[in-house]
Amino acid sequence: MTADGVQRALDNHLAKDGGKVEAIYRATLAIATELSLDAALQRIVDAARELAHARYAALGVVDEERRGLTRFVVSGMTVDEIRQVDHWPRGLGLLGELIHFPRPLRVRDISGDPRSVGFPPGHPIMRSFLGVPILRGGRILGNLYMTDKIGAEEFTEEDEEILSLFAAHAAIAIENARLYTETDTRLRDKVAEVERAERRSRLLSELGAVLLGTRPGQDPPLESVAELAASQLGDAVAIFIVARGRPDRVADRLVFHQDPKRAQAAAELLSRSWDGLRQQILHKGRSVLVRTLDGQDGSPIFDGKLLKRARFSAVLAVPISTGQATYGLLASLASRPLTLTEEDLRFATLIADRLGTALEAAVLQRRERESRARLQELAELAEHRASELEAVLDTIADAVYVVDDHLRLTRRNRAYDRLMGLANGDPPITSLQQHFQLLKPRGENGDPLSLEDLPAVLALRGENFTSKVMLITPVHGDPDRYIAVSSAPIRDATGRVIAAVNVARDITESRERDRLRDEFISVASHELKSPLTVVKGYAQILLQRLQSIPDRQGEARMARQILDQSNRMAALADRLLDVSRIQFGRLHLERHPVDLESLVRGVVDQMQVTVGDHRLVVSTEGGMDASIDAGRVEQVVVNLISNAAKYSPDGTEIHLSLRREDGRAIISVSDEGPGIPREQQPHIFRRFYRASSGEGKSGTGLGLYISKGIVEAHGGRIWFQSEAGKGTTFFVELPLEA
Ligand code: ADP
Repeated sequence: MTADGVQRALDNHLAKDGGKVEAIYRATLAIATELSLDAALQRIVDAARELAHARYAALGVVDEERRGLTRFVVSGMTVDEIRQVDHWPRGLGLLGELIHFPRPLRVRDISGDPRSVGFPPGHPIMRSFLGVPILRGGRILGNLYMTDKIGAEEFTEEDEEILSLFAAHAAIAIENARLYTETDTRLRDKVAEVERAERRSRLLSELGAVLLGTRPGQDPPLESVAELAASQLGDAVAIFIVARGRPDRVADRLVFHQDPKRAQAAAELLSRSWDGLRQQILHKGRSVLVRTLDGQDGSPIFDGKLLKRARFSAVLAVPISTGQATYGLLASLASRPLTLTEEDLRFATLIADRLGTALEAAVLQRRERESRARLQELAELAEHRASELEAVLDTIADAVYVVDDHLRLTRRNRAYDRLMGLANGDPPITSLQQHFQLLKPRGENGDPLSLEDLPAVLALRGENFTSKVMLITPVHGDPDRYIAVSSAPIRDATGRVIAAVNVARDITESRERDRLRDEFISVASHELKSPLTVVKGYAQILLQRLQSIPDRQGEARMARQILDQSNRMAALADRLLDVSRIQFGRLHLERHPVDLESLVRGVVDQMQVTVGDHRLVVSTEGGMDASIDAGRVEQVVVNLISNAAKYSPDGTEIHLSLRREDGRAIISVSDEGPGIPREQQPHIFRRFYRASSGEGKSGTGLGLYISKGIVEAHGGRIWFQSEAGKGTTFFVELPLEA
């Protein structure tokens, strides 16, 4: 019925009967002021029963698809009668007809009517019946059913009209109440939502405070986190932390529930389902929400039997992870189904994210602390090593100093300060420039040197220096000192030279000793010469005289011995004299143009007898004139051939050659002897040096030294090649006349 229609019907009734209209008006008012749907429905059915004068009345709410009734509200039944009804009509028979053909239906007696089905079995017997639809905008909202008209056999047409009119008002009231209820519910939901959001954001900030309050490097207090979370999520909250790098192993586990027994049940359920949880949540990184576990035989994670025993009906679980690593999972369990939602899942994720960040911070802090401790350890070790090194360096008698690539003296020992003449309390020498200015290093002969000539600088360029002899003037003007400096580069891991280590030894005393010895040798050998000449002269005369007397042959042999030994002594004295001449640069040469071929051949002729069982093989080139001291050069060749014979087995060959090479003469003497061991080779030209090849043979270790002196005095060169077991070749190179 439209609003106009209602008005018209009202006007109609006002004209007929003021009392009835008054009743409708009051009933309409009563239902219009009720905003709760439940109460509105009850008021409508009560008012309708009164208006129609019926013993019983009911209101059925039709579902949206008009298939049946979703609610059934009654009036006129006692509480006991209502309690006896075990199910309410769903819209069959008569009631169904009203749903499908929404127009008033009046029946005199329904007790025997075949359409009288679907009424509750315990319902008192009903006879007269009046049903009117509650329509709104062409849609049927429900029906009003009246039974048993009081004081009459049946409902009248007027009843039907009044009820229809009332039904039109009821439709509006229902819709209003529905709207109001809906709005109210929505509002309530919204308020609840806002409140929840507020509670949750408060929880998150509380959680933040708990996590921030954790001591650096310490894991966050899982128990407080779980307890906080449980206040807003399900009833139990569990946090499982896995071992680092071992996601299959649980390192820490915390389950919170107000009731410790329930916490135990949750812990057991989760622990037993660990494999599934690990797979889904840690391995695949997924979140899980099972809104209801009831009626399920289990899930990929939870076993049905376990679930039943634990009595949890809903569960959610989220990973605790950061972009860097997965630390574990957070789960929430609820005893009632459908109490965990997608929103809870998001909230759990927020908590898990915060926890993850805190766990990561703890790991990082721990790592940092560890590396700081390690650094500290290393620093202490370095300090320890440095003082150890310092102590070691200070026990060394030689001066040790390190020069870095900025020419700073980064390290020096006590011996350095002593050697450089620093007194206690003097400021230390801190740079090579300062070292250079204060000590004025010069060459062995006193020649000036520049800073660049210092072994330290050369070592910084990558060279190695051994025993470079220099002269220095100590700081406080003490007498000059000779030092032998050895320097070597120090390289970093990439091979770059970063410093030079230098060792300086004070050789002043030993040089002085050497000088005195050399002077003594020089004087002694010189002084020996004159008495020896006398001894040799008389021995010669004695020998000649005794040889001619037949029965004095024994004495003659003695005289020969005196002569031979005097010759040897004279030769030794000559050698010693040569040594000191060479040493002091006083070797005097009497140069004349000489044909080298005849010189060499002359020596060979002379030596043929002395080389014993050796075969001398000679090859020479002619036409080589040199301006030389023939006696001295012969002395060299004789010495080389004697050595070849002395240091190689009898019966082997000795090759002697003379050839021209690049305008210079090369004389070489090769033997088939044992050779000179490699490590001894650098020393072979030193005074008095005898190699192991000389063991068991007499000698002085002077021959090669003198030979070298003679050759170099001629502006030539002497060297050798030797290989163990393969013999030795000595080479002498002399300049030829232009
Ligand atoms: P000496 O022969 O008096 O020992 P030298 O100065 O002539 O002194 O020689 C020095 C050392 O060199 C010798 O003791 C010897 O060990 C070694 N030597 C010299 N020539 C040879 C050679 N041809 N073969 C092997 N060793 C040699």
